[in-house]
Amino acid sequence: MSKVVHYARTGRTGVITVEYPPVNALGIDVRTGLIRALEAGLADDGADVLVLTAAGRTFMAGADIREFGKPQQAPGLPEVVARFDASPKPVVAAIHGTALGGGLEVALACHFRVALRSAKVGLPEVKLGLLPGAGGTQRLPRLVGVRNALDMIVGGDPVPAAAALDMGILDVVEDGESALEAGLRFAERVRTEGLPARPVSRRDEKIAGTDPAVFADYRAGLAKRAAALFSPHRCVDAVEAAATLPFEEGLKRERDLFLACMDSPQRAGLIHAFFAEREAAKVPGLPAGTATRPVRQVAVIGAGTMGGGIAMCFANAGIPVRLLEVTQEALDRGLAAVRRNYEASAAKGRISAADVEARIGLIHPTLSYDDLADADLVIEAAFESMEVKKAIFATLDRVCRPGAILATNTSTLDVDEIASATGRPQDVVGMHFFSPANVMRLLENVRGRRTAEDVAATVMEVARRIGKVGVLVGVCYGFVGNRMLHQRGREAIALVEEGASPAQVDRVLTGFGFPMGQFAMLDLAGIDVGWRIREERRKAGDPDALAPNWLDRLAEQGRFGQKTGAGVYRYEAGSRKPLPDPEVESLIAAWRAEKGITPRTVSDREILERCLYVMVNEGAKILEEGIAARALDIDVVWIHGYGFPAYRGGPMFWAGQVGLPAVLEAVERYHATLGGSPWQPAALLQRLAREGGRFGDL
Ligand code: NAD
Repeated sequence: MSKVVHYARTGRTGVITVEYPPVNALGIDVRTGLIRALEAGLADDGADVLVLTAAGRTFMAGADIREFGKPQQAPGLPEVVARFDASPKPVVAAIHGTALGGGLEVALACHFRVALRSAKVGLPEVKLGLLPGAGGTQRLPRLVGVRNALDMIVGGDPVPAAAALDMGILDVVEDGESALEAGLRFAERVRTEGLPARPVSRRDEKIAGTDPAVFADYRAGLAKRAAALFSPHRCVDAVEAAATLPFEEGLKRERDLFLACMDSPQRAGLIHAFFAEREAAKVPGLPAGTATRPVRQVAVIGAGTMGGGIAMCFANAGIPVRLLEVTQEALDRGLAAVRRNYEASAAKGRISAADVEARIGLIHPTLSYDDLADADLVIEAAFESMEVKKAIFATLDRVCRPGAILATNTSTLDVDEIASATGRPQDVVGMHFFSPANVMRLLENVRGRRTAEDVAATVMEVARRIGKVGVLVGVCYGFVGNRMLHQRGREAIALVEEGASPAQVDRVLTGFGFPMGQFAMLDLAGIDVGWRIREERRKAGDPDALAPNWLDRLAEQGRFGQKTGAGVYRYEAGSRKPLPDPEVESLIAAWRAEKGITPRTVSDREILERCLYVMVNEGAKILEEGIAARALDIDVVWIHGYGFPAYRGGPMFWAGQVGLPAVLEAVERYHATLGGSPWQPAALLQRLAREGGRFGDL
């Protein structure tokens, strides 16, 4: 008998138990074991009903991620599923925890399904650019009808047991603690009540006579919300096959569609994104088990846009947080914004009215640094000024207890210089949240030159606790994300100066998969922010400061973006939709004339190459300098902080898919024509292109 799947008998019920920690994933040993255990059950004359269950914290939670990307060994999951479907003895799947992906597909091949109320079931394959490839798209519609099946398979989100019972996925939901007990009870009913044991594959009632308009309707919706994605559309095709073809033919169609998804670059990108997110938490040089400092009480300085959002992140995780401001007025304003935010979530039904009060109750406003004496972690989110920040850190040094972690949310300033304002630079670190801080998942943690190891480990752990994707990076101007964004922004401004329109640049970027283009994003964040930073740098005589440009001129006219109703685009009252503005076109035309630039036609291809390859080249430099330890860290920053399409895997992964020799050729070409250090090819890019490597191979 298999080591990971056991067969035993309880009374007249044969029990098949999967025991493959941590999540009973459907690796080769489990697949082989399932077939052997089923055979044992079928051969056991003492058993007339079989129960399939799993040991540990969950039912089978999906494929074995350790096998991803490798050729699958036989038997594959479709074969396992076919065996259960064909079982002459009724099989009851007894579910606890989560039955996801392949796990649910096996359960769907059983004759009955019972689950604990705490369980969830789902087919999340679409999130990895795939579709359920072991009959899930053919069986689920037979249980729940086409509309529900489309929602579950195209959406990919798990549903709670109660909802799954209502839809017809489950036959019974129990409140108890043991799925096995529930399964055994149900097996007894099968025996005594003679419940009809019909395989799901033979149940056509719910799909018979499906109106083809359902699919047309669904496709029209998808064309709007996920036009660029590959697998959601294939999911619809597969469910349509369930409704229009005999079961066996539907299965074949599902297989073909599954293989097409497997071959898609989007699948590769999404799987990279999935693993990269998990890997980012495992920082090289900070092995699992590195000591961390306890964080029970947090303080945030500044209750502005960022401070309020950061305080919410901690309150949402049940961690009490003090929120400090300079004036009562600023404090009241900040707290009112937090309350509005929570109430909006409650109005949408995301949290209850009691949650609103409980969370606000965890945020303690204060004007006094004395209240920060017991904080384990202080996050400063005051104005972006070195002078302001140094003054704050000097105060923190005086009032905070020894060992407290002192973090700054600065977007651009030198964390080491901020640390120098204290007598404890080892406790100082950057925690760069993204706006809106309570929503955006990225937390770019910045390790200063003298930041202690346990401080770095603690801020990564804090990221996990508050539900963020933490990435640890080093100190440089703009860190990883904004440093690369800065290059894209510079290129976008130049492209417009040369002849492109802002709308064309944005269209190319959204066409690539970004949720918004460079200029729409600037309008959202406020053009004034970058303008003030550029002005500061120019005044300071910074040799890397950007020369004055047409965007600065817009800012000088008070066109700061959405907040002033006009920026690169114009906005109608109450709308966030960017509309091209003839006034901006004239301003740009006047700017070009002043500079003696004759506008030329700029191709979409040039826009894409210049906006993205300049980032890849900068990313390579970031790797060379050790600011990011791995290419995957950069990919995670861009996917979770800047809307880089996950299906392209992040900028560094994407560059590998394009082919590094092609990227290098373009970088060299632009370096020859445009010059400037941003286009100076990175040595790492040159080496990897020559060696046929990828950034991931570092
Ligand atoms: P903001 O102007 O909205 O808020 C700053 C708040 O800090 C104000 O309420 C101000 O009263 C308060 N403040 C100023 N000096 C203070 C002091 N000495 N003590 C206590 N409070 C003080 O600015 P913001 O957008 O929230 O940015 C805050 C920080 O976060 C900046 O360093 C910024 O670079 C960084 N950041 C901003 C964003 C963003 O998108 N807005 C994103 C990431 C990081």
